[in-house]
Amino acid sequence: MKKHLRLASIFLLWTIMSCTLLQPMQAAPPTLAFVTVNPNASPTPTPFQPLGYPTATPTLAYTFTPEPPTDTPLPTLEYTATTLPLPSAPAPSARTQYTIFALLDYQGHQLGADETIRYTNQTGVTLGEIVMAVEPNLRGGFAIENVMLDGNLLNYALNGHHLIVTFPQGLAPGAQITLTMRFRIDIPAKVKDRPYGYDVDQVNLTDWYPFIVPFSNGWVLHEPSNLGEYLVYDAADFEVNIKTAQSGVVIAASGVEEANGEWTRYRINGARTFAFSASDLLRYVDATAGGAYIRSYYFPGYDYQAAAILNAAVREIGLFEVKFGAFPYGSLSIVQADLNDGQEYDGLVFLATKFYNEYNDSARSNLVSIGVHEIAHQWWFGLVGNDQAMEPWLDEALAVYSEALFYKNIYPNSYDWWWNFRVNYFGPSGWVDGSVYDHASFRAYVNASYLNGANFLEALNYRMGDDAFFRFLQDYTSRFGRGHATTYDFFAVARQNTTADISDLINAYFAGSY
Ligand SMILES: [Zn+2]
Repeated sequence: MKKHLRLASIFLLWTIMSCTLLQPMQAAPPTLAFVTVNPNASPTPTPFQPLGYPTATPTLAYTFTPEPPTDTPLPTLEYTATTLPLPSAPAPSARTQYTIFALLDYQGHQLGADETIRYTNQTGVTLGEIVMAVEPNLRGGFAIENVMLDGNLLNYALNGHHLIVTFPQGLAPGAQITLTMRFRIDIPAKVKDRPYGYDVDQVNLTDWYPFIVPFSNGWVLHEPSNLGEYLVYDAADFEVNIKTAQSGVVIAASGVEEANGEWTRYRINGARTFAFSASDLLRYVDATAGGAYIRSYYFPGYDYQAAAILNAAVREIGLFEVKFGAFPYGSLSIVQADLNDGQEYDGLVFLATKFYNEYNDSARSNLVSIGVHEIAHQWWFGLVGNDQAMEPWLDEALAVYSEALFYKNIYPNSYDWWWNFRVNYFGPSGWVDGSVYDHASFRAYVNASYLNGANFLEALNYRMGDDAFFRFLQDYTSRFGRGHATTYDFFAVARQNTTADISDLINAYFAGSY
């Protein structure tokens, strides 16, 4: 009975959502047709995790109810909840704080989560609504059960990856609220070029929870691009508690596991994303470098390659802590995955299994060069945020050029190889400051924003000299760390750190005037 009710409600929700809300990534609608969900349609608010957490002991009881196998796979997660205490004192940090309790059915590809968001209105204006990005809704299988403010159900509208939550009264500047929401994901099968989803031996959860997008004269949530990353993130504090339905599932995450009762807790502060990968086959080798505890997660048979990228990571972090500034997080997980490429998140990077297969026992390899690239994003993307859609060069060109610095300093006899292999071979051209929407092909985008961007940074380094150039980068990370930088900011800080005239270089590589 209960099962049928649940299935009926899931089916109803699914029908509503699939008719009107799920948009294929290529078909982003230019105009938004919102479907407003009447909260009274689900009149039984379910309590959430303790809002006083972490001082309070979690009392939310989840129960797994394994069901007998049938021809049709059924959701195997079920919640039971008890009355919970009211919110405690405001959080000390003005950064948005995400506390998530996520229950993962690894084999059944289901995830249920309670998410609590402490948000301080730092926009300077009174807000009637808040905009969140919900990436899983672009892939299907995502369902929100409710959104609440201080125990009261809120109206919300979900359209594509836009979730608009409406407040009954305006939220004044400086006001702090605690939003809670419960959502479920019927995790989709992974497609090759993206980490998100399940595979035969891995479930990757990236951009998997609703998050509040930045506000800068309006909410910043761009439409998906087929060429490049398009999300913009404020730095936030994350505490994610995970429990798996099966034993023996290894979790690689942003952050290192801590015991938290029957949950396993992961924390990362001042980060833009929290990603994790689950697998019953992953194992790891580990090391420390500077402020970072590093784990290199791999599948059986790849221990040699896992040690090789771990070794490169140790050298890289040691170098970049001197050149750029301290590693921004306490830990880094390097995770082997079935991809075409690498992908960066805060405190976690994915690297393609094909890089491990191709590894030739040399730094002259994609495993090392792409691995160094993704790890460099911990500074350029993670620490210093930027608009990845509109100014992708700010993180991508710096990550590519960081590879050059790695080879120049760690493997100088491979420095020329690196320039030929990674940059010159492609004959890069094009304005460096284009957006992800400005290019006809992925190759054209990479050639302009990544590779010609690296050419520009090499010219800038040469013009300024090493002392001024690295003083500039350290100034840049310290001024814009945990914040957002624009191209204007980049050049303003550069000019403050050099007496050299750099305007001819900017004119040669950039369409805009800076
Ligand atoms: Zn990159």
